[in-house]
Amino acid sequence: MSDTIKYQLDEARIPKVWYNIQADLPKPPPPVLHPGTKQPVGPDDLSPLFPMALIMQEVTTEREVEIPQPVRDIYRMWRPTPLFRARAFEKKLGTPAKIFYKYEGVSPAGSHKPNTAIPQAFYNKQEGVKRLSTETGAGQWGSSLALAGSLFGLEVIIYQVRVSYDQKPYRRALMETYGANCLPSPSDTTDYGRKVLGERPDHPGSLGIAISEAVEIAAKDPQTKYALGSVLNHVLLHQTVIGQEAMEQLAMADAWPDVVIGCAGGGSNFAGIAFPFIGKGLQGKAKKPRIIAVEPTACPSLTRGKYAYDFGDTGQMTPLVKMHTLGSSFTPPGFHAGGLRYHGMSALVSHLKELGEIEAVAYQQRGCFDTAVQFARCEGIVPAPEATHAVKAATEEALRCKREGRAETILFNLSGHGHFDMAAYIDYFSGKLQDVTYDESELVRAMADLPQVAA
Ligand SMILES: *Cc1c(COP(=O)(O)O)cnc(C)c1O
Repeated sequence: MSDTIKYQLDEARIPKVWYNIQADLPKPPPPVLHPGTKQPVGPDDLSPLFPMALIMQEVTTEREVEIPQPVRDIYRMWRPTPLFRARAFEKKLGTPAKIFYKYEGVSPAGSHKPNTAIPQAFYNKQEGVKRLSTETGAGQWGSSLALAGSLFGLEVIIYQVRVSYDQKPYRRALMETYGANCLPSPSDTTDYGRKVLGERPDHPGSLGIAISEAVEIAAKDPQTKYALGSVLNHVLLHQTVIGQEAMEQLAMADAWPDVVIGCAGGGSNFAGIAFPFIGKGLQGKAKKPRIIAVEPTACPSLTRGKYAYDFGDTGQMTPLVKMHTLGSSFTPPGFHAGGLRYHGMSALVSHLKELGEIEAVAYQQRGCFDTAVQFARCEGIVPAPEATHAVKAATEEALRCKREGRAETILFNLSGHGHFDMAAYIDYFSGKLQDVTYDESELVRAMADLPQVAA
């Protein structure tokens, strides 16, 4: 059909491998360093926290990593996800551009995050782990890992940032429905949590603090391992099912993108859609599209951060990673895209930015919600607050095409739906949703805390 809006693949077409961009990089990313010795970490340094299979995926340079059959079987619950052509939205914008979006909101948790939660739980189970610990902000990652834990018979303990725990009871209820134990962070169950509460009993929490708590209990209990929902190489690897499927679906539409867009918190859904396309470019097999990562102006690690070694958490327990960072003690101002409130950016995404392979833009939340509401009224799907940033960037590109009279093909990742985030839309409609900027002095302070590492 010439006016198709939904490109669907059969279950048998779920990718059989994950695509590893480390095989195609013109230059490897800088090594991850031990926080004490400042020497490159080895597998043994990471083994208290992660199962060996995931540690090996962190460093492998094999181009293709096989997806285990039990993982593919579970992926069938929602994969392949649909690729839509946003015909109604194109018409509304009056653009000659073709806009395609890959919709990851069809997973049980409502976002792309189960794509990595499932394999992470699988490898932990395989290595005899009994319990997984993690952190969650708004709750998307927590609910994804809770789902994965329930499917593989693993206990899951989740430290949820205090303010979200209090303000967003529905995500917590979802985690509990899947059988996870959800605690507000900072909590009195860890040394670091008790230290933070000692200094400020009403602390609202942050992702960095919750990571420290989750890492601490994994480090202290041999039966417990830690799971991270973004940032790490193996997480980005697992998300590449998104871009691989999108490539096949675009082929059904006889299309190849000129621009590929994803919102970026820690970088995983962005990498998921973008890396397979960057890879084809690096391999010289296809014209590399422009690749755009979109972040919030209030937490702009790629556009305003420094490319430097930093900790992944506030308690300074994690290895040091060279990345675009606002400083591990940076606390962003309150805004609605909870999944984009992280101080750093994944090492691989940061490295690609340094290599000039990707672009980055930042937008304020009001403009993002303006376009998201227009989008919902045309396409029906209500984007998650994080995903509104991708919608905004795709809209800006489509309007540029209109000004320039160019019929480019734009692909963006709609990383999740906003059904648990309607409070943000309520604020938007009541005029309470304000643009916020971070405090410049807070940024300067947090940057001054960056660890010293010899160049
Ligand atoms: C968590 C989340 C994000 C941000 O995380 P990335 O690792 O950068 O993808 C974006 N969109 C949704 C819907 C999320 O749940």
